[in-house]
Amino acid sequence: MLVTNHVLSGALIGYATRRAPVAFTVGVASHLALDAVPHWGDDRAIEDVLHIAVPDGLLGATAMAVVTLTSAPQRRLRVLAGMAGAALLDMDKPSRLFFGFSPFPGVVDHVHQRVQRESAGRLPQEFVVGSVLMVVVAVCTRRRGMPGPPRPVGTASG
Ligand SMILES: [Zn+2]
Repeated sequence: MLVTNHVLSGALIGYATRRAPVAFTVGVASHLALDAVPHWGDDRAIEDVLHIAVPDGLLGATAMAVVTLTSAPQRRLRVLAGMAGAALLDMDKPSRLFFGFSPFPGVVDHVHQRVQRESAGRLPQEFVVGSVLMVVVAVCTRRRGMPGPPRPVGTASG
């Protein structure tokens, strides 16, 4: 699955949870759950799919920055935590490419590899899912301009 889609899913998790550690943990779990759903993937070595992986990584990083910066301050940390958790397991790819090893214990890489339901023909599906996620995240982020919950009486500071 494209990391951008994991990032956007993580943003929604951040919006749906109340605490950053919970958002991060659910984000990590969501990565495995989404990788178990049929999605695009390619058995070729990462060096052979860089034409997809590099733009995806840059788009995912950009999405993470934009969503973080445009989220309401009271939501910002948990939204960032959700995105970071959701993207974390795919950090094995740039690590293998640049440093030659995965940063995770072997059991984590094994589980991550075993849940995959990939097909090289599902890239259009990734774009559809990503587009839908982008719209939903944009709607959630746009709510930042709405007034927050009412303050308890006596706490207003003039
Ligand atoms: Zn993955």
